[in-house]
Amino acid sequence: MNNKYFIQTYGCQMNLHESEKLAGMLKQAGYVACETPEQAGIIIYVTCCIRENAEQKVYGHLGALKPYKMKNRDVIVAVGGCMTQQEGAAQKLHSTFPFVDIIFGTHNLCEFMSLLEKKRNQKKKVIEITEKWSESECIPMARNSYPNAWVNVIYGCNNFCTYCIVPYVRGREKSRKIADVVSEVKELIAQGYKEITLLGQNVNSYGNDILGEEGAGDFADLLDAICEQVKGDYRLRFMSNHPKDLTERLVMAMARNKNVCHLIHLPLQSGSNKVLKEMNRRYTREQYLEKVALIKKHMPDCAISTDVMVGFPGESESDYEDTLDIMQRVNFSAAFMFVYSPREGTPAAKRPDQIDAEISKARIMKMVALQNARTAEYSKTYEGKTIQILCEDYDKKRDLYMGRDEYGRMGYFTSDKNEIGNFVNIKVGKTNGISLYGEKI
Ligand code: SF4
Repeated sequence: MNNKYFIQTYGCQMNLHESEKLAGMLKQAGYVACETPEQAGIIIYVTCCIRENAEQKVYGHLGALKPYKMKNRDVIVAVGGCMTQQEGAAQKLHSTFPFVDIIFGTHNLCEFMSLLEKKRNQKKKVIEITEKWSESECIPMARNSYPNAWVNVIYGCNNFCTYCIVPYVRGREKSRKIADVVSEVKELIAQGYKEITLLGQNVNSYGNDILGEEGAGDFADLLDAICEQVKGDYRLRFMSNHPKDLTERLVMAMARNKNVCHLIHLPLQSGSNKVLKEMNRRYTREQYLEKVALIKKHMPDCAISTDVMVGFPGESESDYEDTLDIMQRVNFSAAFMFVYSPREGTPAAKRPDQIDAEISKARIMKMVALQNARTAEYSKTYEGKTIQILCEDYDKKRDLYMGRDEYGRMGYFTSDKNEIGNFVNIKVGKTNGISLYGEKI
């Protein structure tokens, strides 16, 4: 039996972390990772359905895999992740790609080894998509992002933004217990990890679903508990936040706990009150700016990054200008900018006033150019300064080590020893976009 596995991940950090969980289970059972699907006995696709092109990529890769699977019938092909959890998606996958052996939902991840066994014993296709959420984490995990580690703190989302499929495929919010998160972080720091990112689709809504239960608390309590109980030289980050759930308590907890990075990712999506209402974002542009002021009041140095969308149905030129206006006022340290992509099953996808692709294209191009100039300008303020970065990787081609500072800027430097996992001070010389180049000091 070929005991090699290959996992292809699409989408966000949540999915990357889920792939670490799958890899952990497979390794424990004696399987070993390989580099390409053609070397593998088990091929797993962890899918994303946030945008249409993410789905198209999965279909493309599955189509390309067919000849290999036809020649190697013993190879197991499995598809999991957000895409499979959508209504009717498993059946569509089954009929379009009948050679796929296992289709599993987002809540069935930790059962993967038993699904594999079932497939091998029954010799027929296994489809397992359930709504139930399992409170236990899949253990062990095969983390491959040293010195960084991701820790899930809350699953699902209750917000139902009108363009988003996540609440339909990930279910309602489910927070883990503070003690469980603290003990996972403690173990990671003891193992030598230097940066922990707390993950949730709506991370700062953490705890709302378990308030009142013994040992529960909100996200500010969680940050306090981690920083009080896990001592050491490490960084703590979290994503992704919803502006409506950003409280002064949380900002103050960020400010008082030295391990917490002064970077907050605060998705804006739109600067137009009309569009925000139609998106069901539950804040206005004024309230968003108040949250920004709150952050700056307690942490004047805090960097703020964001997600912005153009071309939401009915977005007028003046709605779009409102978004550019907020981007200019806040001066985001970085922005992830997207063109709206209709997702079947969401209210926005049914609207008749979809924006012409050419208009969206022109809007996104202008926005990207403006933000890139702002990002470059922001980076320039670093020139001549000394920053501390956590070295994450080595770029062989350029012979440079790389890592991020507390505020998310990418720094590059040379060194004659392995620096991965070290906190390194570099004096910034030149900058290029979001990247800073410097000398180790
Ligand atoms: S808060 Fe985020 S994950 Fe939740 S529905 Fe809105 S966009 Fe989707």
